[in-house]
Amino acid sequence: MTDDFKEIEKMEKAELHIHLEGAVNLATIQKIARRKKMPRPGDDFYPNSHYQNFEDFTRVFENVLAYFTSEADFFDLGYDFAEHQAKQNIVYTEASLMPHVHEMMGRDIKAVLEGLDKGLAAGEKDFGVKVRLIYSISRMMGAQAAWATLDYIDKYPISRVVGIDLAGMEVKDSILPFEAPFEKARQMGLLTIAHSGEFSGSDHVGHTLDILKPSRIGHGIGCCEDGSLVRRLVEENVPLDISISSNVSLHAVSSLEAHPVRRLFDQGVKLTLNTDDPALFKTSLTDQYEMLMTYFSFSRKEILQLVRNAFVFSFNH
Ligand SMILES: [Zn+2]
Repeated sequence: MTDDFKEIEKMEKAELHIHLEGAVNLATIQKIARRKKMPRPGDDFYPNSHYQNFEDFTRVFENVLAYFTSEADFFDLGYDFAEHQAKQNIVYTEASLMPHVHEMMGRDIKAVLEGLDKGLAAGEKDFGVKVRLIYSISRMMGAQAAWATLDYIDKYPISRVVGIDLAGMEVKDSILPFEAPFEKARQMGLLTIAHSGEFSGSDHVGHTLDILKPSRIGHGIGCCEDGSLVRRLVEENVPLDISISSNVSLHAVSSLEAHPVRRLFDQGVKLTLNTDDPALFKTSLTDQYEMLMTYFSFSRKEILQLVRNAFVFSFNH
């Protein structure tokens, strides 16, 4: 372990882009399997950190979802997550959950949300960290998933819920249906975030900015091909949630060296660093910072700037 690594590990950090369902340690899944008297998942449950394609990744993600059916399971999800963040000195997290997907899988949504909230509250108390929630919507499920998500926020008020996020495959014409629910979310005082420019190009990022007016963009690396769009992100002060291992593992970039993080940073785009789905990509937030130093020549001062950005662009700021 290098001195840089140890220093970053010890530093108080924030993380703004991490999916709860993609952050489940194998030990949590094994604990739930034991409770349900299911066969114990082995070390190959998370097969490797590189996926052939997005569908291959989705298959593993769905394997994780299958274990979470009861309030007790979602309690464990929240509690173990808070511990996982605390171990890395991540003192503030905005973590996302896809409640509509869980409901579509037949779960009792009240049990899902209350179990998770109670688990997070207990974890916050025991481990001294703060976790806020973002409800993520799969764009493949259409606008009705977004309206259903806003209904959950109304019907099951949980004070740690601070925003909504649009995720899933970025296909053409998949933005416009979400304009009205995003507007409504802002009226409700919620933060709005959208994954864009992960697999798509600058057009998609531009439309996302025009139509959804998000306060942060998940990934956004597709913006690079259009200099005027990069300038717009700088002028409008819209940060990109960057997740390097995720982009490499899912082939959003052709190689690690091809990742545009250095270029975006040098052009003045505000960036935050994140793990996205750390269990599936077998990474940690400290790993991500170390990659910036090792492969992209980020100085200590530049690293501190990114660490600070994650607090500055959080909902709580
Ligand atoms: Zn994501």
